[in-house]
Amino acid sequence: MQVDPDSTAAGAPHWLAVAVPTPAHSNLAEPLTYRSDQPLAPGTLVRVPLGKREVLGVVWHSDLPAPPPELAPQVRPVAPLEGLAPLDAHWRALITFAARYYQRALGEVALAALPPQLRTLTSVQMARRLKRQGPAGAVATPPSPSLPLSAEQAAALQAIDSGAGPFLLFGATGSGKTEVYMRAAADALSRDAAAQVLVLVPEINLTPQLEARFAERFGADAVVALHSGLTPAQRLGNWLAAHLGRARIVLGTRVAVMASIPQLALIVVDEEHDPSYKQQEGARYSARDLAIYRGHQCGAKVVLGSATPSLESWWASTPEPDGPGRYQRLAMPRRIGTAASEDATTGLPRVRRVDMNRQPKGALLAPPLLEAIGERIARGEQVLLLLNRRGWAPVLHCADCGWKSECPHCSAYQVFHKIDRTLRCHHCGFTQRVPHACPSCGNADIGTLGRGTEQLEEQLVGLLANVHRPDGSSARVLRIDADSARGAGRLESQLAQVHDGEVDVLVGTQMVAKGHDFRRVTLVAAVNPDGALYASDFRAPERLFALLMQAAGRAGRDAASGATSEMWVQTQYPQHPLFAALKLHDYPGFAAEQLKERSEAGLPPFSHLALLRAEARTQEAAQGFLVAAADAAAESLAQGELAGAFDTVTWYPAVPLTVQRVANIERAQMLLESPSRVALQRVLAACQPILHALRASPEHRAVLRWAIDVDPLAV
Ligand code: ADP
Ligand code: ZN
Ligand code: ZN
Repeated sequence: MQVDPDSTAAGAPHWLAVAVPTPAHSNLAEPLTYRSDQPLAPGTLVRVPLGKREVLGVVWHSDLPAPPPELAPQVRPVAPLEGLAPLDAHWRALITFAARYYQRALGEVALAALPPQLRTLTSVQMARRLKRQGPAGAVATPPSPSLPLSAEQAAALQAIDSGAGPFLLFGATGSGKTEVYMRAAADALSRDAAAQVLVLVPEINLTPQLEARFAERFGADAVVALHSGLTPAQRLGNWLAAHLGRARIVLGTRVAVMASIPQLALIVVDEEHDPSYKQQEGARYSARDLAIYRGHQCGAKVVLGSATPSLESWWASTPEPDGPGRYQRLAMPRRIGTAASEDATTGLPRVRRVDMNRQPKGALLAPPLLEAIGERIARGEQVLLLLNRRGWAPVLHCADCGWKSECPHCSAYQVFHKIDRTLRCHHCGFTQRVPHACPSCGNADIGTLGRGTEQLEEQLVGLLANVHRPDGSSARVLRIDADSARGAGRLESQLAQVHDGEVDVLVGTQMVAKGHDFRRVTLVAAVNPDGALYASDFRAPERLFALLMQAAGRAGRDAASGATSEMWVQTQYPQHPLFAALKLHDYPGFAAEQLKERSEAGLPPFSHLALLRAEARTQEAAQGFLVAAADAAAESLAQGELAGAFDTVTWYPAVPLTVQRVANIERAQMLLESPSRVALQRVLAACQPILHALRASPEHRAVLRWAIDVDPLAV
C-alpha cells in the first residue's frame, strides 16, 4: 500500500470517503466515511462493513477532516485489499462523470465497473492471482506482415496518426475499417512501450472473430477480452491483465469501457451506431459516449467506426459552418478491391426492391426472389435471409371469436413456437403449451398470424426441394436466432457451419446481419422489413436503415470470387424514400433527410432528452408518481437558482410505455426535453431528492421502482 512517509501521527486514524455499493435508490448516493489505521491512497480497493454485510469498496478521497468527536466512534474501519495498485485518477474521473451524468450513485457505478469476482476475494486469494499474471504481454514486433493499405485506408490512418480526434471513420461495409483499427493500434503501441488500446464491439458474438484477428496480428499474449460471456475467473484475470498493463489490447463489449486501463492511448468503438452500446438497466450509460469522455479525459485518441453512423455522431462530424465539426470525419466509401476510378458503389451489392403488392397473396418469398435464391445455390453461393422476428408466428388467433394469444402477464402477444409447440412471451418468458382449441370459444380451427424465422426455415425446406447444389445434393437451410443460439458454444458452431460452407441458406434475425465476414454470401434478402417504417419511435427509420445497410454489407465480401451480389427488399412500400436511399447506398442522403426532420421537430441531436420512468402495480399509480414529481419539481425549481435551467426544459405528459405491462407490472414514462444538455443535467440532478422523497411518501407506496434514463434510445 501507499505509505505516506510524512505521516507522523502513528496510530491516529485516517478518515476516508469510500464508494460502496449502496442500494440503487437509497439517498446514500455519495461515498461513505470510514477510518483506517494506515494512510490509503484514493483508488485503493478495500473491504468495508456496510450494515450487516462486508462489501468491496473503493477509496474515493483520503485524509478527510476528522468527524466531530461524538460521531467518530461510529465510523467503522476498512481492510485494504493488499497488493493491488490503486485505480488511477483517470478511472475515478470517468466513474464520477458516469455516475453524475447518468444520475446514479457513485458506488453503484464504481462497483459495477469491477469484475464481480473481486467482490468476494480475500487478500490471500488476490495475491495468488496476481502471481499468475505474467509480465506485460509482448507485442509481436513488427506486427505480422500485412497487406498494403488502400488509398482510402492510408489516408484515414494518416489522419488518425497525426490528428487529435475524436474521429468518425465512415467506411462502407467491407472497406477495411478493421484493418485501419489494427494499424492505428499498432502505431499507438509502437509510439509508447507501455501504451494500451481499447477496442469496443457491440455484440458478444462478434468478439471471438475480432479477437482472433487481433491475436493473429499482435500475438495472443497481448490481447484480452472483456465481456459478460466469460467465466468469473476469466473476467477477473483479464480485468487484472488490463489493470496491470499486461494486456496491451483490451477487446470488449460495453462493460469494457469502464475497465481500468492505466496506459490507454487509443479507443476504438466499432459499429458505433449500434444500440447495444446503451445499457438498458441500472446506470443506463452509453459506452460510445463514455468512450468520447474517457478519451478526452485521459488523452487517448478515439475512433468511432461505422458504415451507418448514429445521427448524433454524423452531426457531430459535420464540418463547420454547416455543423459543429466536433469530430473529424474520415470517409472510406469504397470496398476493398474497388478502384478509385470506379464508382464508389461498384463493389457493393445491387439493391432490388420487390413490390409485395404485386406478388401472389400470402407469398412468404416473392417468386422472382425464390428463383434467384435457387440460382445462387446451384452455383455454390450462399444466401442470407433476414427476418427480424423469431418463433413460428407472432400471434395465434381464432377467426371465429377473435381470441388472440395474449400473455396473461403483459400487454403483448405470446409468440407461437412450433418446434416445441409452445406459446412464449418474449417479454416475461411466460410459456404455455399450445391449446388444441380456442380457449375462449372451443373452436378447434385456430391459426397463426404473421411469420417468424421458424416458419421461414420450415417453408424454405419445401420451397427449395427441387434446388440442387453444384454436387447434386439438396440445399441446406440453417436458422440462427436467439432461440437456436441458446446454449454454450451453439452460436459459434452455427457460425462456423456458415463459414465452412456447410450451409446454403442462412435464416436469421438481426443477430446475423451485423459485422460477420461471411465470405460466400452473395445474396441477402430482407423478408419483411416494413414494420419499422411507420413505428412511433423517432429512431425507428435510422435503425432500420442501419440494419438493412449492415445486412447488405454481408453480401459480396469476397470481391475476388467475381460473383455479383444482390440485396433484395420485400416491401409493400417500394417507393419509400428510405428504400430509395438504400438502393443508392446513400447514407449521407438519408442522414441529411433525417436530420432535417429532427431539426424541425426539435429532436436529438438538436435537443437533449431524458425519461423519468416509474413502475407500479397499476398504471394510475405509475403515472401519478410521475405527475407528482413534475409538479414538485415545478414548485421547487421554477423560482430561485435553477429557474433559468428549469425554463429550458419541456415536460411532456406521463404516458404508458409501448409495452405497458410486463410480468404484471405497469410501466409509465415522462419525457423531458431541453435544447441545453447542461440545463437538463442540472434539473435532473435537482429532481433526484424530489423523487426519493416522493417515493418514500405514503401516497406513493404503490410505486415499485423509478429510474432516470438520460439520452434514451427509444422514447
Ligand atoms: P469492414 O470492417 O470495413 O467491413 P474489414 O476490415 O472486415 O471491413 O475488411 C473487409 C475484408 O477486406 C477483410 O477480409 C479484410 O481482410 C480485407 N482487407 C482489408 N484491408 C485490405 C487491404 N488493404 N488489402 C486487401 N484486403 C484487405
Ligand atoms: Zn409476458
Ligand atoms: Zn374462439
